[in-house]
Amino acid sequence: MDLYEHQARELFKVHGIPVPDAAVVATPREARAAAELLGGRAVVKAQVKTGGRGRAGGVKLAAGPEAAELITRRMLAMHIKGHPVRKVMLARPVDIADEYYVSYVLDRAAGAFVAIASAEGGTEIEETAATRPDAVVRIPVDPAEGVTAAGATEIARAAGLPAEAAGVLQRLWQVMVREDALLVEVNPLAKTTAGRLLALDGKVTLDDNARFRQSRWGAGEGDPHGGPLEAAAAAGGLNYVRLDGQVGVIGNGAGLVMSTLDVVAGCGARPADFLDIGGGASARVMADALALVLSDPQVKSVLVNVFGGITACDAVAEGIVRALESVAVTKPIVVRLDGNSAAKGRAVLDRRAHPLVQQVTTMDGAARKAADLAAAATASDAASGTRADAPADVHSVIHTDLGA
Ligand code: GDP
Ligand code: MN
Repeated sequence: MDLYEHQARELFKVHGIPVPDAAVVATPREARAAAELLGGRAVVKAQVKTGGRGRAGGVKLAAGPEAAELITRRMLAMHIKGHPVRKVMLARPVDIADEYYVSYVLDRAAGAFVAIASAEGGTEIEETAATRPDAVVRIPVDPAEGVTAAGATEIARAAGLPAEAAGVLQRLWQVMVREDALLVEVNPLAKTTAGRLLALDGKVTLDDNARFRQSRWGAGEGDPHGGPLEAAAAAGGLNYVRLDGQVGVIGNGAGLVMSTLDVVAGCGARPADFLDIGGGASARVMADALALVLSDPQVKSVLVNVFGGITACDAVAEGIVRALESVAVTKPIVVRLDGNSAAKGRAVLDRRAHPLVQQVTTMDGAARKAADLAAAATASDAASGTRADAPADVHSVIHTDLGA
């Protein structure tokens, strides 16, 4: 789960990393009041879970409260890389002498944590990393030992940061460990003209697997789910990721669902989601899953692909029947059942004989059918002038180490 900048800032503060004074607001009027409290001038910053805001117009200096109000009004109407701006943060401006980059990230390929640091931070860090890799140092961090005082000093020295940065590096490691983060990044870590170090921008990705021991993530702070569908899926305990295509995909087991996405794509269609009902799923789980996917306006057809193992196909079929009874089904559903109790499951669906449900016995055949049905529905929408459904508000997961 990625945090917003203002949430990252709060965590930094808790762990003693210096940050500028700031306030988060959702209206231009509040922005004016916040700027007044900050002393008049303010840096207005769009709160979106994507990098490169500054270059996209999402970071602006307001000369006074009135300007803060105006800039906020404009920013709240913006989308940055597809992310609508719902809140802005106003921060007390600082005079910057130098900008550094520091982060810790879990390097899955190396099976280790790595510290990444550069004396040339700021919005150009990705170019710097690409064109002059020597300007960015990567130093492995032993997870058992962590970042000791000596380790932090070494990272600062290797990257050419001032010696005081070692303290920030140690505290940032505490954020990584205590908050169960997979990524913590400060860019820029600014040195002010008065000689102070301040974390001016932060990015934190928390490890969802640690949710059980991080009680604070529960309400408000986390905001783990991109939109209402994700929130509904999380509430129902479904493993769901919304994508941007037209074929709703439901299967059992992450591997099978991933392969199903590939096969759908291989048929020239685009999957609308990844939904894994898991091993041993009950009829209720299947019914919830189907209802969720059917409620997504971008879905034109649904492909249910189940290979029964611990999950019995008749339970899956019962779940489909249950969903057909409880929600108004207007989209075609293609079902492929194989494995444990497949014959029983197929018989359940045959008996129900719903006009929008069809069974195909192979995975390839079912994907082909679902893709064709989605294409036909999209074509008929276009012919009848139906407006394409608005794209979902889904935030993209950040894959790069160095998202500025
Ligand atoms: P990003 O574009 O999403 O990485 O947004 P940042 O919060 O990192 O801001 C981008 C750039 O704006 C920074 O690298 C700074 O150069 C500049 N900036 C941000 N806050 C301040 C500030 O308080 N004073 C000054 N002078 N520049 C700032
Ligand atoms: Mn930044």
